[in-house]
Amino acid sequence: MDSPGQVIGGHILFKGGDLVGVPEPQMQRLRGNRIAMIFQDPMMTLNPVLRIDTQMIETIRTHEKVSRDEARRRSRDMLGRIGISSAEERLKAYPHQFSGGMRQRVSIAIALLHKPDLIIADEPTTALDVTIQSQILYEVQKLCRETSTALIWITHDLAVIAGLADTVCVMYAGKIVESGDVDPVLDEPLHPYTRGLIGSVPGHSRRGEPLPQIPGMIPSLLNLPEGCTFRPRCPRADDDCMEVPEVTSPLHDREVRCFHPHI
Ligand code: SF4
Repeated sequence: MDSPGQVIGGHILFKGGDLVGVPEPQMQRLRGNRIAMIFQDPMMTLNPVLRIDTQMIETIRTHEKVSRDEARRRSRDMLGRIGISSAEERLKAYPHQFSGGMRQRVSIAIALLHKPDLIIADEPTTALDVTIQSQILYEVQKLCRETSTALIWITHDLAVIAGLADTVCVMYAGKIVESGDVDPVLDEPLHPYTRGLIGSVPGHSRRGEPLPQIPGMIPSLLNLPEGCTFRPRCPRADDDCMEVPEVTSPLHDREVRCFHPHI
């Protein structure tokens, strides 16, 4: 991690090993190869002054000893699989010659080139229109299933979570406050924050009624409230909540960080 950022505790477990403290050369062998990242802005991945073929071929040859022709063939195939037509022609284009949705497809194709064990996607479809978003979600989900790639999809969009995820972790102020299989968490949320989030989504059943809101603002991570970080906004807060809640498992396959979950 670049200075002044530093890991001061905890573990990052990947395939049974802890990545904290792993030497940089070993991390370089994992990055882009076994673990890939898709950013919200594809220009974080793509170099604006290099053609797409150069970028994809370099990505493959950084981790594998294959000829340029073989790397080119694999790049073309992957562009086709992610829904880019005339892939041979598009390989010769520069990033600025693609639309936003197409650029994001290219960065997803690059992430999938090595059939990684894990892809971390940080709001990758937020900037795209809904039709393109659903096409990309469909393609990514299909390809991850075909290649047995695990996918961590970071998003604020509950509809995307409902359609895409098997399990969900709800985060508040930097900590997971509830986790479990997606349907039970969305249907019967236990944590007051999850409940507030889901309650604030517009639905047909409440037509004409004011939309419920979670009062207050997310606190600064530099100045967190004492005890439970959700306490100043929580309708269930009491004196117990002046302590920091631990994670408990009040229901099968469900974890929650709260003294008074909705059970
Ligand atoms: S611990 Fe208390 S303040 Fe925090 S979410 Fe639960 S009830 Fe609310």
